[in-house]
Parts: sequence; structure tokens; C-alpha cells
Amino acid sequence: MKDLIEKLKKIGAKRIFIQIADGLKQEILKIVNILEKNGFETIVCMENNYGACDVREYEARLFKCDTILHIGHSDFGVKTKIKTIYYEFFINKDINFKELEKINYKKIGLISSVNFIPILKRVKEYLKSIGKKVFLAKTLRYEGQITGCNISAASMIEKKVDCFLLITSGKFYALALFQKIKKPIFVFDIDKNRLVNLSKDFEKYEKIIAWNKVVLKNATNIGILVSWKKGQMFGNPFKLKKLLEKVGKKCYILAFDEISEEKLEGLKLDLLINCACPRIFPDDYEKFKLPIINYYHVFEN
Ligand code: SF4
Repeated sequence: MKDLIEKLKKIGAKRIFIQIADGLKQEILKIVNILEKNGFETIVCMENNYGACDVREYEARLFKCDTILHIGHSDFGVKTKIKTIYYEFFINKDINFKELEKINYKKIGLISSVNFIPILKRVKEYLKSIGKKVFLAKTLRYEGQITGCNISAASMIEKKVDCFLLITSGKFYALALFQKIKKPIFVFDIDKNRLVNLSKDFEKYEKIIAWNKVVLKNATNIGILVSWKKGQMFGNPFKLKKLLEKVGKKCYILAFDEISEEKLEGLKLDLLINCACPRIFPDDYEKFKLPIINYYHVFEN
């Protein structure tokens, strides 16, 4: 954390509003202790934090903080008036490289989320050492880096590769990929230390998307979901509303901080179209009683 302390001192931080990725919360007390030993005042935001899209500037101001420290995500360009520092928490541990030999393709596109970039670099060398051709694209801060809503590092090389290898934990990033990538996707789960097969999940969600597009055709009342989190506006809800109302639907733009089923209870709607974090569908699909699709599904055949 030495570099972080230096950065904070350099910008003259005094009172820091800390936001930390949900998966790293167990580290927060340690981090606070180090920051306070170095003379900073801290306040920890205990609301969920899923990405660098969610920068709590308003809340930081309420507590008269001069700096926001965002831990676990990398900057993707959300503009703030308060100084915001992104601290990318890297995970680098031993993995079972032998598992990767199960990938029976020659040209492999390599991708991961920011936390696993050090592992991605070692995987790249390993794959090369066993005769594979490895492709990476740099569209965010690091080569091969994707986020849950930006998989351009994969799309950019799709034509050149036979398959993709995603270094990750859980299903979050894999579910982002399968919707846009047509090549085979191998998923190496760091926690399980092996390749995992998610093809059943992909098939399941493909069917749900297809079905919900049919629901859209027949829907009368539609809820368009938006969030006021600073970096979570995808598509244009107002244009979408106009477009759908031209073909006889009635649309309601519904704004949230965090979108949940409970907040939608009592509204007589046929379908939800999500313009907020595109991972609400499919990741949270089962939490909603109403059928839901992302805004870009409306424009697909
Ligand atoms: S919009 Fe969603 S997927 Fe994108 S960074 Fe935010 S939480 Fe992650």
C-alpha cells in the first residue's frame, strides 16, 4: 500500500471516503488501520459496491470528505469533482497450470478482470511455453482487462482467435461474455483452481433472452429501469421510451439507486428493460418476478 499512501499524500488527502468492492470487504479494517496510522481520517461506505461506475460523490460530500478512495476496481472515466483515487487490488496466487492443457485450440484470446491481471500475465507465458498462440487486446488500463460491462478486449480479437480463456472467479464475467462472443469460452475459476464448464448456464440464459424478446412483442406496459449511479447509464431511456411508444406500448422510466424486486412491487407492468448495470440481467434474473431484458436486446433480431 506504500504507493497508495504516497498518492494520497501527494494530492493532499485528509478525510477519505472509502468505497470497496464487495468481494474485498474482509480487507477493509486492515486498510483503514494503515491509512489512519499514516494520518488520514477515514469513513467507510458500507453500501454495496459493484464497480467503478458507482462513485458516491454526493455521500462523500455529506461527510465533508476531500477524497474518495475506490478499492478493487479500475478507473473507467467517471467524472467527479472530488479527487478520486482508484486502488486496484490485485490477486496473485498459485494456480494449477496443467488444467490449461485441456484447452484443445491453438489460438487463444486471453482476458480477465482487473484483480487477476498478475495471474493473466503468468498464464500468458505458460500458454506460450506449451506452444499456444496467445492474443490480448488493450482497451482498458491493462492488456486483456475486461469489466462486467466492457468486453471490448475480447470483441477486438474475436476474429483472430479459436477460443477465449477467461481468468476469473464465479460466473459474473463469463455471463457478460457469452452474450456477445460467438467463439468457445473456457473459464478458469481461480477459487476452484480449475476450468469450469458454464455451457449449461449460457444455454439457459440464451433461452430466457429469446423468450423475453417474445414477451416484449406482446407487452403493453413496460418499466425502463435506470440508476443514478454515476457510471451506470447504458442506452438512452428517453429515446427507447419514444421508440416503443410509437409502436403502441406505454413505457415508464423508473429510477433507482440499487434496483430490486421489492421496489417494483405493486406496479402493473408486463416487462422490464434495464438501462442500468447490464449485469442485473442475467446475474440477478432470478430475483425479479417480471421478465427482464437489457436495453440492447431490444435492438437485436
Ligand atoms: S455498470 Fe455494472 S458491470 Fe459495469 S462496472 Fe458497474 S457494476 Fe460493473
